[in-house]
Amino acid sequence: MINVPLSRSESGPLQPEVKPNNMPTAKITIFEKAGVPLTLKEVEIPALKAGEVLVRTECTTLCRSDLATYVGRRIEKTPTILGHEIVGRIAAFGPGTPTRDARGETLHVGDRVTWAIYAASPDSELSHRGIPQKSPDLFKYGHERLTADSTLHGGLGEYVILRRHTPILPLSTDVALPVAATINCAMATAAGALRLAGPIAGRRVTIWGVGMLGVVACAMARTAGAAEITAVDIAPHRLNTAARFGATRLVPAGSFDAIDEKTDIAIDFSGNLRAMEQGVERLAVGGTAVWVGGVFPQNKVHIDSERVIRNLSCIRGLHNYNADDFQYAVSFIKAYHTDFPFDTLVKGHFTLAEADAAFAFALKENPYRVAIYF
Ligand SMILES: [Zn+2]
Repeated sequence: MINVPLSRSESGPLQPEVKPNNMPTAKITIFEKAGVPLTLKEVEIPALKAGEVLVRTECTTLCRSDLATYVGRRIEKTPTILGHEIVGRIAAFGPGTPTRDARGETLHVGDRVTWAIYAASPDSELSHRGIPQKSPDLFKYGHERLTADSTLHGGLGEYVILRRHTPILPLSTDVALPVAATINCAMATAAGALRLAGPIAGRRVTIWGVGMLGVVACAMARTAGAAEITAVDIAPHRLNTAARFGATRLVPAGSFDAIDEKTDIAIDFSGNLRAMEQGVERLAVGGTAVWVGGVFPQNKVHIDSERVIRNLSCIRGLHNYNADDFQYAVSFIKAYHTDFPFDTLVKGHFTLAEADAAFAFALKENPYRVAIYF
């Protein structure tokens, strides 16, 4: 096999490089297991099926769950291609009628697009109930096993094939690439948390854990008209950042118990058991707690059932997000990407060949996100 580098033309749509035997190829990085460097490999781009869209990756940001898998704290099907916060441009469509975006508009080759982390049949019972991310036929970008028949499904690869039933939306090039990349996971998940919390306008919102999702949730709560936004975190620098994203009060996690005030909405992104308990304990009558952060096995939380009953409290869990959340996140970033310093959250400027170095940088420096450019 003769490897030919992929290239980008100066103008016009992005096209896969064609090798001498006429089979277009793409470079991917393969994750086998923790402690083993990623393998850079060139694979053939298969013929697209009806409904599929070939996207040329422009930028991928490393999510916390990518880091957890990389170091072995979280187990995924392997071998796999990590990376699910991705933005790119449409390179080609599979055969069939024009491909439409999540709002019904026609997509075009060359469009910069973002897409949901999942493909799921809209006809499944769970999709009908608004939770397509748990549909039995779920396909999840950045989380699938690499096989001979399925090779382009992660952000640490030059191309991604979007399957049928993937919500896709075009993006303006005004939105900075690394900021656009975070829509697929961080921004859409934060949007899901706010949806589950109910109406935000005029209400007191408290957010535990102001990492990437937490600061996005602060900004979304601010733009949705929250009366107060309290950020709670163990790290002073994260609290200071939250203030630039709309938080109106900053509380070090160790000081929270000393504050005796109620909140209407308690959102936990930290995964800390005590934080989740505090959220429920502090709910005002009719309040809602949303738990997002603790997606790993741990001990049980202690909750006063009488308090939940007398206060008519609601506790909701969220894993990933649905198509409405994805659309909300895209609309939000289009409207407010210049109102908050999102670009300051993403560090690094790595290439695909430097993906291991990008993980090492992310693990050592612990920025909100690390970017890999293509
Ligand atoms: Zn993620």
